[in-house]
This record gives sequence, structure tokens and C-alpha cells, in this order.
Amino acid sequence: MDCRSESATTGEGRFRVNANRKLLDVWLLVRCVSCDWTSKLTVYERAPVRSFDPAELDGYHANDPELVASRLLDPLFARRNRFTLDWKGAWRLDAPPVWLDEAWPVQVEVVFEDPVPVRPDWLIAQGLGLSRNEVLRRIKCDIPLRRPRSAGFTFTVMTGG
Ligand SMILES: [Zn+2]
Repeated sequence: MDCRSESATTGEGRFRVNANRKLLDVWLLVRCVSCDWTSKLTVYERAPVRSFDPAELDGYHANDPELVASRLLDPLFARRNRFTLDWKGAWRLDAPPVWLDEAWPVQVEVVFEDPVPVRPDWLIAQGLGLSRNEVLRRIKCDIPLRRPRSAGFTFTVMTGG
């Protein structure tokens, strides 16, 4: 491998579980952000099957997003694997359907379930189906929209007029 990038992303998040008699290996598959090379980061190594909470084990088999998020949030996990993990493609935006009949301006509150660093202008554009220009023109907000943020905020959408 020539690539020296140490930054990786989980994307949608996939675990691989390997059973060897009564021992399990669990890995999280990650992709290098510069060359797309896939690697396996060790979550558990030769851990006795009975030491797992069955629900957690099901979660690894089902690629549970909560478990992926918990790995991304664990600074020791990435460091132990000599990677910096980023959230590229590893988060989901739940936005209500776009309103049509509301009186303008509309105030919107954004709540984070996990502290995922995302750029507010991207989030708003995606959530409301607005272009970048429309975001600049119609969004009023007290926080810098281009700086990644991982905590809740509110913004106001002005009429498209
Ligand atoms: Zn690479």
C-alpha cells in the first residue's frame, strides 16, 4: 500500500463477525477516505461467545447503526486501530416533509442524536431541498453555517418570494 492517509469512514457501517469454536472476532469495515481501500478494525478479538449480550451480538450481525455510531464516538477505538474515523456518509437526516401552507418565516430546530460533525449549510440544503444559493439567501441563523457543528441549533427560513 502506497497510501499514507490515516483517515477512514464507515459509510453506512458494516460489521463482520467470525466464529471460531466458542470464540468470536468482530470487525468494523472502514474505507480509506483517499484511496477507497477497505480495512477491518478490530472491535473484539477472540472473545468468548457467552461474554456477549445476545442483543448486542444480533446488532453486530444486523449492522445496527447505533453500534456503528458508538464505535465512531469512541476515541480509543480509532486510536487503537491507528485511524481517524470520520462521519462521511455515516449519518442520516430525518426531516419532516416540506411544508407548503405555513406562514413565513418558519423557524426550524435541528436536534442531533449523536454529535456528528456536519456543516449546517449542507444539512439545511439537504433537509429542505434548497440550493446552496437559496440557503445563503433565505436562511437566517446565529451560528456560522459553513463551520462543522455537532450540537443542536435553530434557524429561520425566510419566504422565497
Ligand atoms: Zn488510502
